[in-house]
Amino acid sequence: PSHDEFIFRSKLPDISIPNHLSLTDYVFQKFSGDGGGDSTATCLIDGANGRIFTYGDVQLSLRRIAAGIHRLGIRQRDTVMLLLPNSPEFALCFLAVAYLGAVSTTANPFYTQSEIAKQAKASATKMIITKPCYVDKLTNLKNDGVLIVCVEDENDAVPLSDGCVSLKELTQAGETELPKPEISPEDTVAMPYSSGTTGLPKGVMITHKGLVTSIAQKVDGENPNLNFTGDDVIICFLPMFHIYALDALMLSAMRTGAAILIVPRFELNLVMELIQRYKVTVVPVAPPVVLALVKSPETERYDLSSVRLMLSGAATLKKELEDAVSLKFPNAIFGQGYGMTESGTVAKSLAFAKNPFKTKSGACGTVIRNAEMKVVDTITGVSLPRNKPGEICIRGDQLMKGYLNDPEATAMTIDKDGWLHTGDIGFVDDDDEVFIVDRLKELIKFKGYQVAPAELEALLISHPCIEDAAVVAMKDEVADEVPVAFVVRSEGSQLTEDVVKSYVNKQVVHYKRIKMVFFIEAIPKAVSGKILRKELRAKLESEYL
Ligand code: AMP
Repeated sequence: PSHDEFIFRSKLPDISIPNHLSLTDYVFQKFSGDGGGDSTATCLIDGANGRIFTYGDVQLSLRRIAAGIHRLGIRQRDTVMLLLPNSPEFALCFLAVAYLGAVSTTANPFYTQSEIAKQAKASATKMIITKPCYVDKLTNLKNDGVLIVCVEDENDAVPLSDGCVSLKELTQAGETELPKPEISPEDTVAMPYSSGTTGLPKGVMITHKGLVTSIAQKVDGENPNLNFTGDDVIICFLPMFHIYALDALMLSAMRTGAAILIVPRFELNLVMELIQRYKVTVVPVAPPVVLALVKSPETERYDLSSVRLMLSGAATLKKELEDAVSLKFPNAIFGQGYGMTESGTVAKSLAFAKNPFKTKSGACGTVIRNAEMKVVDTITGVSLPRNKPGEICIRGDQLMKGYLNDPEATAMTIDKDGWLHTGDIGFVDDDDEVFIVDRLKELIKFKGYQVAPAELEALLISHPCIEDAAVVAMKDEVADEVPVAFVVRSEGSQLTEDVVKSYVNKQVVHYKRIKMVFFIEAIPKAVSGKILRKELRAKLESEYL
């Protein structure tokens, strides 16, 4: 049996992808020469206050921001951290950094001081673009010479602190001395953090070529998997620091000329009201949002008939939920996407322009074009035929270049033949639809957010009264999964659950908080020292729940 006997591809023909272009040249390709782009069309709508940015405004603003941060010293290949909530400025700053050939590392603005510091140091961040309300978490970094740029709005309660630069002032000088650097397709443009299949969060180096490929695979060519058009209004409340919103929504929408309605966070009534007011056509969601929509009687009060497409991703969506939410959006087709930060989007429901697709609920789409997928036996590595579950592997130009400063983790994830091993268990059925059924990797997903057990274990072990610890997922109806800890106390220690929880939980963002602690004698481990997580999960179910 061969390792590559069964390879699955899209039924759609491959297309030629202009992935020699830099990201911003590709996204705004229609606006160069006589590409037919309409500069007066709406690109971004600020859901918080109704501000509108046309495609012309966006390109002008991104150049002004690029010129401003260049004046402050940002150069090609430097890293800038975007520590911002969803906002037009997030999009504009990301594009400005990309324009300069620099790298955006995106982080959750709710991260604690230590989480931000870890990522900033590991990624060699030179500048952080943020809002005044988050600056107090950056004092140490500022003292270490990291530049802080602040996006202020009229009703900011917190004034600009000393030593921070205002983005508004920075951009007032216009486009003076804006260089146009020579960007190689292999240069990194985005660097979100992900723990991948094992260990601590790592910088995922996504190149111009990788991101251009990933967008093109979804929206370019005839009958693309994702048929956004200039008539679409796409609502974006999913976090823009995550690749799903950045790649599959924001950048894909800009490539097609659609409008993006940006909302700082998911709040059911606000979102419903905005859908009605702006006649939103596309609603991208994650499974917890679907659950909230299904459970709420409030949805009845709004006219949701404009919605033609609902897209879910980031975590497993139960078939019953998919069926139930479809009833609330009378004209919407439901689609799913599957991917991981390291791999780009891999499978996507087909949304043909004039031929509404009907896929099986529970499936997360078909393989996108210009990519290959195989399903391998987790022990032998042999490729498996249809309907046989195994580890999903992906190959294509959309993959990450690797993890920053971590060739070992990179080699463990992308093998010598270019296959990225996702750590997900799934299969492809007779109709080419992909189903994800389990997760082989240790990653915990709380409402689609990543929780890396290794990160929590490192914090636990740093406590003087903890000898050893392991963190695994516990099933949860609302969050899907929550982290729980198994802890071995040091000899003679009387450590309590509350002390353990408060010690860890004050150091991490809310969704990484440990929900329960179980004290045990020893953490089960393989001879290699690897934690036997499966055993712990079984123990959790049989003894503790
Ligand atoms: P992230 O890198 O944060 O996007 O996490 C990627 C992981 O989320 C994948 O490897 C899967 O485990 C999970 N995931 C993403 N999309 C789906 C989906 N449609 N169905 C099931 N799991 C998913």
